[in-house]
Amino acid sequence: MFRPTPQGPLTRLRMASTFLGRPVYEVSAYAFADLLIDSGPPQSAARLVEWCRGQPVRRVILTHHHEDHVGGAAALQEELGLPILAPTSAVPILAEGLRMPLYRKAVWRTPRRFRAEPLGATVEGAGYRLHVIPTPGHAATHVCLFDAERRWLFSGDLYVHERVRYLRRIESVREHIDSLRRVLALKPELLICDHAGILENASERLARKIGWWEDLGGKARELRDQGLAVDEITRRLLGREGFLPWFSLGDFSQRNLIRGLLADPA
Ligand SMILES: [Zn+2]
Repeated sequence: MFRPTPQGPLTRLRMASTFLGRPVYEVSAYAFADLLIDSGPPQSAARLVEWCRGQPVRRVILTHHHEDHVGGAAALQEELGLPILAPTSAVPILAEGLRMPLYRKAVWRTPRRFRAEPLGATVEGAGYRLHVIPTPGHAATHVCLFDAERRWLFSGDLYVHERVRYLRRIESVREHIDSLRRVLALKPELLICDHAGILENASERLARKIGWWEDLGGKARELRDQGLAVDEITRRLLGREGFLPWFSLGDFSQRNLIRGLLADPA
């Protein structure tokens, strides 16, 4: 699936991995002015390059190093000569090539490696200025891009959903909450999310996301103080795990979220 969806000055590029012809996991990139923000999964790279040929895209900005966001970058660089800008900490990871668990390779395939240039504090062009905001948690490399004049937040994978329950083992929910607070302080109005799409009432949504995790953390601490173990706390607060931990060999689980919420602050 590759579906460009114009929405005012933004174009949402919806892409999905498919299994037996059905989309199983969707992710978006966005075209704005002369920028492409994120680049979808490796499977959509050829379609993305074709689409960009007819567009005024001159630079590609990546929000973090995950394969469903950087998958088109190598092809865009090689075939269209576009410069790729990535968070500084992602540059060596992208140059070396991603090391991905098998289940992620199966869903997305592994992106080819490429040379990116490190993002500075801002990205500027005709009619826009985006501030680069470090927002670790979902990934250590993660950044958001904030247009202070329009009050737009290109949020990569910071938001995704108000009630995210499954985290990867390496994610830090505490850092993620700090990052949510950092962008909330900027008072964004439009949330431009790589999974949920373009959403109004950005600040209210971000505040509700923080509130849900904080509330869950409070309940988890109460149960821990009663002597319950992490697995039991997880089951009581979030229910059964379902198939994701099984499919991801334990990488994705609700348990990771509860464990992270219970961890002592660094
Ligand atoms: Zn991600």
